[in-house]
Order: sequence, then C-alpha cells, then structure tokens
Amino acid sequence: MKALLINPYIYDFAAYNFWSTPMGLLYLGSVLRKNSIDIKLIDCLSVVEEKRKADGRAPFIKEKVRKPESLKGIRKNLRRYGISREKLDEELGHVESPDLILITSIMTYWYTGAKDALEIARKRFPSSKIVLGGIYPSLCYEHAKVAVEGADLIVRNNEAERFYGFVEREFGVTLSFKPSMYDFDALPYPCFDLYDKIHFVPLLTSYGCTYRCTFCATPYMHPGIVRRSAGSVINEIVYWHDRSVEKYVIYDDNFLYGPGLYAKPLLRGIIKLPFPISIYNPNALNASLIDDELANLLLVAGFKEVRIGLEAINPDIQKSLGGKVNQSIFERAVGFLLNAGFTHDSIGAYILAGLPFQKWEDVKNAIDYLAGLGVNAHIAEYTPIPHTPLFEEFYPLARYPIADDPVYQNNALFPFAWEGFTDKNLLFLKQYAREKNGLVDKSK
Ligand code: SF4
Repeated sequence: MKALLINPYIYDFAAYNFWSTPMGLLYLGSVLRKNSIDIKLIDCLSVVEEKRKADGRAPFIKEKVRKPESLKGIRKNLRRYGISREKLDEELGHVESPDLILITSIMTYWYTGAKDALEIARKRFPSSKIVLGGIYPSLCYEHAKVAVEGADLIVRNNEAERFYGFVEREFGVTLSFKPSMYDFDALPYPCFDLYDKIHFVPLLTSYGCTYRCTFCATPYMHPGIVRRSAGSVINEIVYWHDRSVEKYVIYDDNFLYGPGLYAKPLLRGIIKLPFPISIYNPNALNASLIDDELANLLLVAGFKEVRIGLEAINPDIQKSLGGKVNQSIFERAVGFLLNAGFTHDSIGAYILAGLPFQKWEDVKNAIDYLAGLGVNAHIAEYTPIPHTPLFEEFYPLARYPIADDPVYQNNALFPFAWEGFTDKNLLFLKQYAREKNGLVDKSK
C-alpha cells in the first residue's frame, strides 16, 4: 500500500514559520510505515531558505491572492503562504497513485488551504481514499463535515482507532501496529526523514495540561495529562543527533508540570548527553513552576531563550483567564532565570491583546511593567478558539460571525475590537512594544 501525507499551504494575512511542523501527520506517517505502508510527503509550507535564521526559523514563501467573498471587506492583504496551487498539482503529478492520502489542517482558520489541497488531490487521484485530520476538524468537526467536500473520513485528534478501523475496512488489511497517539513510548519518531534537510526537530514530551485557562483549547483537546518517559525523549534526541540535528523545539502545552518528577530529570538527562544541543520554546513556560534549580537546568540543557506566559497584569483579567500567574510569581521566575545566567535579552513574556472587552491601556501597562523588569514583551493577539470558555461566552459579541465560519477566528482580524480597544490601538501597541523592547535597559 502507498500513502501520501500532505501539509497544505495556508491563506492568512501574516504568517512566519516559528518552528512549525505538521507533527500529528508525521507521527501518523511513521505509524503507517511501521505497518509496511510506503509513505511520501508533500509539505506545501515551503520557506525562503536564504532567509532562514541560525535558530531554524524562516519566512514562508508567499504570494498576494484575491480575497474570497467572506473576507472582501477586510482592509488587509491576504496571502497564500507556501507553494502555489499549480505547484502542488505538479508535485502530485510526480507521485505514484496513492491508496491513501492524509491531509492535515493546523489552525482552524487555515481550513481553506486544506480544502484546496483536498480538491486538487481528489482531481489527480479520484479513487484514492482521502482522510482529513488536524486541529481544524478536531475543534470544528461539524463545520468540516459540511465545508470540506470529498473527504472519505474526517478524524479528530483523539480518533486514531477510528482511523485504523477505516484503513482496515477500506483496504481489507489488518494493521499489526495500532498504537494510541497517547502512548508516546510506543510511537515511532515522526518521519522527519522525509524532508530533504532537517533543520530542527520538535520534541513532544506530553499532551494536556492541568490548568484551565479560559482562552485555551488544550483542556478540550486533551482532557488528561499524559507524559512521555524522559528516557524516550533522550533516545529521540540521540537518534536525531546521529542524523546531524542540533536544534530542538519544545512546544508542549505544560512542559514544566510536576517539574521534580519530569522536567528536571529530563533536563538532567539532556545535560549528561555527550554533545550540546540548542532548545527553543515558542510556547510559554509556566512562571509558577520555575524555581532556581529549574532555571539553572534550563540554561545548562541548552534553552536559548525562555518565554513565559504573563498574559495580563490587571488582576481582574488574570483571574478571568484562569489565574495561574500573577506579578509576584512572574517576578520571582524572572529573578531565578536571571540568577541562573539568562540575559534580559533571552527572557520574554507573552501578553494577551484583543480579549473580549479588554481595554488597550491594560496591554500598555503590561508592556511598561515588562520594560521596567527588562523583559521583552511579546504581544500575543487573542485567537478565539471554539470549545474554550471565552469563546463560548463571547462569540455572539464578536464583530464577525466566528462561530459560523472559522475563517473569522483568525487573530489578524481582531474579532473582538471595540471602542475601548480599536485596530488603531492595536497597531500602536505593537509599535510601542517594539520600541520598549529596543529601548529597554539591558544592562540592569
Ligand atoms: S494556556 Fe497553558 S497553562 Fe493554560 S490551560 Fe492552556 S496549556 Fe494549560
């Protein structure tokens, strides 16, 4: 049997590859390969290699495109990030007709790219079985069933069993290897070997989170927390290091949870490796779980930068978001990181902007607060995500029909702009944060 994995191109107003990879798709590809199924990959999200940074990040190739009817009134340029429709079709022309095609869709508002890919693949291979998966159908299943025509199966993140059953039924085969996607220690490593060059490898060390932040879909996607053994993560690093990979990315939802039992032993294991590695964490670490020992381990294990989720400094907003961090917890964590040897430049904090009925001054105050501590402020524009408490409470008040069409869930559209926080305010704040980050006294 032959299977083809497709990571579609995306339509967006802004996008950049911050170590993004289609991890779920690559894990599933490896599972199929273990079942003696031949796998190929077309990753449409190509980047401009000449502009790749030393840390592995790179801008996607992009092209301005016409807006669909639903986005006609938006005064921003819509772009396709990744290869063109024609190029995808051409690449499909070089693939021997697959029995099975897996297409992923990562962000909910990127589903139109997946829809395109499915349409193009369906034209090329009318008799292949096509499966759509990823975060979009996991969070917007009912929408996907209607909006994405031509899929033979649409699967959510926790439906590996359904996927295996489908393959066995459709192809009259028995899969000998059908691991749960939560059984980390049984899962083969994701098939990054299908890329011409591996610039970095994300390490998945857990699923789920014990917190319940009201803006976050993790508790819905993964209601329980599942950890991978530290030994398995170390083995994976050794495996990829033998294949010349030096950069690793951890974007787990709650990497530090239970640090004494997990993150600390894992980091100690990494430190003991006979070679150094670089680690990046684009997702925030939880300030309340950082102590002096952990800060030191993060540094010595190879974390190049630490990003912490501050989210807000207004206590009411902190409470409404779930209350996992406050200023004293945050300052304590920053103190531990500085003492360990992280420079001010290598510590950043995320501040949420654009929450329902948030005032723009709250974000400015948070930027000022971070500048006072000498910590870089990173504005995270709020994305309304279905099945989160904030979404469910406020979706009727968004300025676009975010519950009807996920395309409006894009944070670039600022769905919760209001007179107390306008598009203009947001532009000002982005510039203000840039200036403050640049002006901050790093010698402190
Ligand atoms: S934002 Fe982070 S800490 Fe909060 S629920 Fe999501 S993963 Fe957990």
